[in-house]
Amino acid sequence: MITEVILKEKEVSEKLNGFSYQEVGDDHLFTGLETPMKQDAFKLSDQEKKDKIESLFSEIMDVMGLDLTDDSLQGTPKRVAKMYIDEIFSGLNPANKPKVALFDNKYQYNQMLVEKNITFYSNCEHHFVPIIGKAHVAYISSGKVIGLSKLNRIVQYYAKRPQVQERLTNQIAEELKAILDTEDVAVIIDAKHLCVSSRGIKDDTSSTVTSYFGGKFNNQEKIAELQNTLNY
Ligand SMILES: [Zn+2]
Repeated sequence: MITEVILKEKEVSEKLNGFSYQEVGDDHLFTGLETPMKQDAFKLSDQEKKDKIESLFSEIMDVMGLDLTDDSLQGTPKRVAKMYIDEIFSGLNPANKPKVALFDNKYQYNQMLVEKNITFYSNCEHHFVPIIGKAHVAYISSGKVIGLSKLNRIVQYYAKRPQVQERLTNQIAEELKAILDTEDVAVIIDAKHLCVSSRGIKDDTSSTVTSYFGGKFNNQEKIAELQNTLNY
């Protein structure tokens, strides 16, 4: 039996009413689980957004003094607009949320399942430069199992937004908890922020690790077991 589950982000965030924290002392400030969006975020169609971004981006290039009649540059505003809407920020639109099929746990497998080294590309919402990383996600079935590629797709969906790593981690965790109907979910993200390595402090060796350990994962024994699995 296959159950189609499409959760609206609003439902997920409603479950977390009042959930928010802040990281202070840095230029990276994080305020909540939900990506801050305007009420009328989808008033314009994708094509209208692309047309508008194209014209605004050519203005930015023009202000910087670039010659938009140059062969190499003239198509750039259109390319950027298309890339923003169709690719790197496509996860802002709930219409692009992956449809997830759940299956009965016929295998009676009741230990942790870990999908590790999921490569993702995101963008820092403070500088609009890339975040490149790996996500490891794990869950213990509450009776339903999810197609493995869907774990990957959920990571990619939330990565394709302007992001901060803490929010990305929590959004993936909350989505998995809601879909799989269990608290027993873990998410670990290890990522490099180009705003740290290619500008500002210019530290090329550091990476940022964030984690979420819910339900049965929230104890030392399970965390150790998970870390062991990741070290294979
Ligand atoms: Zn940044």
